[in-house]
Amino acid sequence: MNQEISQVSDHFGRQLRDLRISVIDKCNFRCTYCMPKEIFGDDHMFLPESELLSFDEITRVAEQFAKLGVEKIRITGGEPLLRKNLDKLIARLNNIHGIRDIALTTNGVFLPRKAQKLKESGLQRVNISLDAIEDNVFKETNGRGVVTLPVIKGIEAAQKAGLKVKINMVVKKGMNDSQILPMARYFKGKDIILRYIEFMDVGNHNGWDMNNVISKKQIIDRIKEEMAIVPAEENYYGEVATRYKYADGDGEIGVISSVTDSFCSSCTRIRLSADGKLYTCLFASDGYDLRKDLRSEISDQVLANNLKAIWGRRADRYSDDRAALKNTNRKKIEMSYIGG
Ligand code: SAM
Ligand code: SF4
Ligand code: SF4
Repeated sequence: MNQEISQVSDHFGRQLRDLRISVIDKCNFRCTYCMPKEIFGDDHMFLPESELLSFDEITRVAEQFAKLGVEKIRITGGEPLLRKNLDKLIARLNNIHGIRDIALTTNGVFLPRKAQKLKESGLQRVNISLDAIEDNVFKETNGRGVVTLPVIKGIEAAQKAGLKVKINMVVKKGMNDSQILPMARYFKGKDIILRYIEFMDVGNHNGWDMNNVISKKQIIDRIKEEMAIVPAEENYYGEVATRYKYADGDGEIGVISSVTDSFCSSCTRIRLSADGKLYTCLFASDGYDLRKDLRSEISDQVLANNLKAIWGRRADRYSDDRAALKNTNRKKIEMSYIGG
């Protein structure tokens, strides 16, 4: 059944396009820049199952968002593949009128078992996080001593299943900047786009410091020491990565520069946490308690009106403010909770 889709714009005229859904806050890794094991220890209290949005609730929210112009959905976490029967949720989201793209961000370890089913349920793309190609570095970054092989196997399984694969590598000075070139060498020519991500000040526990950020310019300069690359056109409005093609035609890389070259003016994303809080910015302090609405008798129409109003009053541009050195020193939500 076709239904009307009405576009909504925020305070700065940005249209709502993308919905990021975190389906779980737990993770099998303890990446130092995201869930440092000193803070997220064995006694850490994760959300109980009763507090997670059910698949019915998530689907209902996504349906209302699709009516407001959302076309793309990204599933994230914590580690989203720890959520049971995720393929069933993806199949339901894939049936929503207006949703034309579903992607997943994962650390890749569970993909060998799950990639095929995910593809069959309608998943098109997967971003796999891998911060190093050398075991001794990767074991440190993931905080669990895991070597790269399980992730490499996950990447291969995703490709074999027919999923488009991108690799996300967070670059932090002293942690893995030694891996910028080895990662490029490894993925060049494999039909996989490697994306370098500047270390961001998300959350309150990862000890972020501007001195630990390796900038987009530094990353590109490092690549150019060995490989010829040329800037490439934006694929679509609001693309977060700056793209570069290898001059020899052997694929491309991207850099996500939210710290040194922010892109708030084209930010069309809204984020739903695993327990149903809605955030209009990755660096927000507070979210709107949508679960409360969902677990009351609220009608779809009222729900849609609420969502529209939330986007309509959105005035977030944290990274632009950070770049302008305005006061951005506030309490923030954790990356593992909101999902990046
Ligand atoms: N567990 C999944 C994974 O790692 O792909 C999904 C959730 S994770 C929070 C989503 C993305 O956020 C990952 O690519 C991760 O590397 C990135 N990320 C986490 N903390 C970050 C930080 N402080 N700065 C930049 N990117 C970060
Ligand atoms: Fe887990 Fe992903 Fe955070 Fe690493 S980045 S700790 S894999 S949620
Ligand atoms: Fe979007 Fe907020 Fe990131 Fe700016 S800082 S790009 S508004 S999520």
